[in-house]
Amino acid sequence: MRTFTAACVRCGHTTGYPAYRCPACASPLALDLAPVAAADCRPTTGRGVWRYAGLLPRVRHAVTLGEGETPLLPLRHGGAATHVKLESVNPSLSFKDRAMALAASAALDHGLTGLVLASTGNAAVSAASYAAAAGLRCRVFCATGSNAGNKLETARAHGAEVELVAGHYSDAYAAAIRAEGQAWLNVTTTYRNPLLTEAYRPIAAELVDDLGGVPDAVVVPVGAGPLLRGIWLGFTDLVAAGLITSVPRMVGVQAEACAPLARAWGAGYRGREEWAASLRQPIEVGPTAAAAIADALRGYEDEGLLTLDAVRRSGGRISAVDEPAIAEAGRHLARQGLFVEPAAAAALAALHDLAVAGPGRADTCVAVLTGHGAKEPSTLTAGSAR
Ligand SMILES: [Zn+2]
Repeated sequence: MRTFTAACVRCGHTTGYPAYRCPACASPLALDLAPVAAADCRPTTGRGVWRYAGLLPRVRHAVTLGEGETPLLPLRHGGAATHVKLESVNPSLSFKDRAMALAASAALDHGLTGLVLASTGNAAVSAASYAAAAGLRCRVFCATGSNAGNKLETARAHGAEVELVAGHYSDAYAAAIRAEGQAWLNVTTTYRNPLLTEAYRPIAAELVDDLGGVPDAVVVPVGAGPLLRGIWLGFTDLVAAGLITSVPRMVGVQAEACAPLARAWGAGYRGREEWAASLRQPIEVGPTAAAAIADALRGYEDEGLLTLDAVRRSGGRISAVDEPAIAEAGRHLARQGLFVEPAAAAALAALHDLAVAGPGRADTCVAVLTGHGAKEPSTLTAGSAR
């Protein structure tokens, strides 16, 4: 495991962990991890997310419910060699379990009372289950606009205290910040807590092991986007360790109905501050089935810069897909035996564009299927009726 410091992404000021913002300039923090050697990138005898413990920041506890090591399957889809990474089969049916295993372990390390977070649903279920496994309390703030009914019932079943906040996700985000502090680790799954992003590094190692090499592109549904950045960081580890020579193009996908990152990306890169200004422009948010990635970033716009930075440095891009394309991708996956939530189907919808478009065509693509459809089956059956 790797020693680390928390450092401001803007001014470089370092601070101890847990911390959520730079004490000097209030920008987001990122963890600066010690470098890895090739041996650190190999699987260990650990279970779950700890199987690639050498890639992770150092914690003393190792909470697990068997997350990670998710299957990679070939998929019949157009002409490209397409694969899907089934993050939907994690213990609470989404990729967030990787982050919560690490976060719950860190909370125990620091003697904290529990986990607190804002969530549209998936993270609430994940945090609640890992808090229960670790003997921690869990508080969930969910916006009334998030329509997360079934997921919140599951979180309550795990013993979480659920509070509804009038408004949108950003309102719940602010409530979680007010609750974070000495006793409560804020595990809101944006970039608020810099530890969470690190839990996704092993996905890169798993992909290289399963494919026997580096894919040309990895397509990831993104709200704020720590999953995409974490996977990219994992590939940069493997390059630094000399195990691979290039990173895949990282492709972020948003629903057109809520696509601040795709809009900023479309404006082109003229520098960090220009992108920050683009993200701060008000964005119209429409209805979308892909609620899990509908994040307008209101009040924490600068967090989006971390995702844009990873995409740019990987040579990738950020796409937006419309609702009919998301619904069709979901049906396509269902007909091949894979039942995923609309946010996950968005990855396949974007992958279609990627495979057929001329410049930037990718030959070996991985679509990360971020969450299972079982928690909101009506979104898919509603699509089937059309
Ligand atoms: Zn700073």
